[in-house]
Amino acid sequence: MSETNPCLTCGACCAYFRVSFFWGECQSAGGTVPDDQVVLITPQRVAMRGTEHKPARCNALLGNVGEGVRCTLYEQRSSPCREFEASWANGEHNARCDDARKAYGLPPLTPPLQPSVSPNRVA
Ligand code: SF4
Ligand code: SF4
Repeated sequence: MSETNPCLTCGACCAYFRVSFFWGECQSAGGTVPDDQVVLITPQRVAMRGTEHKPARCNALLGNVGEGVRCTLYEQRSSPCREFEASWANGEHNARCDDARKAYGLPPLTPPLQPSVSPNRVA
């Protein structure tokens, strides 16, 4: 992650949503997520430990939301963790990112400024 990654000073989504996925992503099933970091929520699905109830906070999240955080399972994290992107990270708005940040009093991320083009520019 780069120095400018907004997630490094946020972490709200890891402490707001239930992070659930197919049990086959767990290590005992050949996946990456350590079994002791999940809880079974249905016969087919697990949730990251700590996110199965409200208020949610993933056990793997270190630090203070809105200040500085780190995922201790970053290389082993599940598909929903890999797929959840900060708003505008790839040019797309993510309303769920906004929702999680709002719950912690953090403002929504804004799109990067577009380079200004002079109306008098000669091609
Ligand atoms: S595993 Fe890491 S990225 Fe996924 S919810 Fe937990 S702290 Fe967040
Ligand atoms: S809520 Fe958005 S900015 Fe905050 S950690 Fe999650 S994806 Fe990153």
